[in-house]
Amino acid sequence: MPFRKRMVYMDYASTTPVDPRVIKAMLPYFDKKFGNTMSPHEWGMEARETLETAREEIASLLGAAPNEIIFTSSATESNNLAIKGVAFANKERGKHIITSKIEHLSVLEPCRWLERNGFKVTYLDVDSYGLIDPKRVEEEIRDDTILVSIMHANNEIGTIEPIEEIGKICEEKGVYFHVDAAQTFGKIPFKNRDLHVDLLTISSHKIYGPKGVGALYVSEDVRMEPLLHGGGHEFGLRSSTVNIPGVVGFAEACKIAEGEMDSEITRLTELRDKLIQNILETGRAHLTGHPEKRLPNLVSFWIESVEGERLIMELNERGIAASTGSACASGKLEPSHVLLAIGLSRREAKNSLRLSLGRWTTAKDVEYVVDALWEIIERKSR
Ligand SMILES: *Cc1c(COP(=O)(O)O)cnc(C)c1O
Repeated sequence: MPFRKRMVYMDYASTTPVDPRVIKAMLPYFDKKFGNTMSPHEWGMEARETLETAREEIASLLGAAPNEIIFTSSATESNNLAIKGVAFANKERGKHIITSKIEHLSVLEPCRWLERNGFKVTYLDVDSYGLIDPKRVEEEIRDDTILVSIMHANNEIGTIEPIEEIGKICEEKGVYFHVDAAQTFGKIPFKNRDLHVDLLTISSHKIYGPKGVGALYVSEDVRMEPLLHGGGHEFGLRSSTVNIPGVVGFAEACKIAEGEMDSEITRLTELRDKLIQNILETGRAHLTGHPEKRLPNLVSFWIESVEGERLIMELNERGIAASTGSACASGKLEPSHVLLAIGLSRREAKNSLRLSLGRWTTAKDVEYVVDALWEIIERKSR
């Protein structure tokens, strides 16, 4: 039978297409309702109302108060604001921060930068599933610890961390707790209160909203400094004229995600497990990340004698978008810091594959990808 090519996007963890319903909601805000929220006239008033409505909508989904939501440009900015903002405002209290070895680079790099500027950072180990032990967090908290930053779910291996337990520990010890929820918000249900978080990062383009918008939840009692100084937007924590079309799109994307979450979790988990089962049946693939405590839309492996970059290219030739790990890490020749942290050798880590599913992934797509993978893996291991 001739090879029939499909186009299959299985890289939703790196970014998602904007949902057509989101585009529709955004359109009027480019030309008709284009006002600046700081303007005293009718246009400005309308922009302010739009902004506050979007803020209320996102706040209510997180179980937060509207004045606890700061709009930013991305999860990267939110993570930077959370970490540096807390560090700068609380350095008289202490200069110690705790995070993990498997965080996104937008957490690790601000931490490394703070280390070069007089702060101390503890990078916690994870087990072979990528899980952080809450007891280890407790042991590492010292008198001068001001912040703990741990991701909700890992973007490369999908493992969901015991955030609730870690949050309780931080609460008891009086240490601020920041969570990077870029991979979980809109995908698995949670409320900030249940997680005991003080700061939480979310991003629009991971949940079918536009790129260039994110938010940081900052609990009312957190002391922090802004990174951007200027006109005092966003309660003084993030100056710069607010991206109203972006914020409107983000809020719409959140509402859609919330409404469809339960059915999507069921549908995607089924597709995910089918992918895992069929890929493991090749006898050459090893699942990375936790078998159960994992994102409903993410599968990750390392595959014997199949080099990751090569595999991605072969899949690409068949119309399939996959990833070796994080988009940010690919392009570099270094193996992923996450895969090394869960104990893979450098060689194993370079043989990694991540497939992430989303709103438009079908059972047919899964079959097509499984067939392609079987064919490539069998040929390589002959
Ligand atoms: C994608 C991602 C980020 C960065 O998000 P941007 O909005 O692209 O800056 C941060 N953390 C995690 C866990 C992510 O998956």
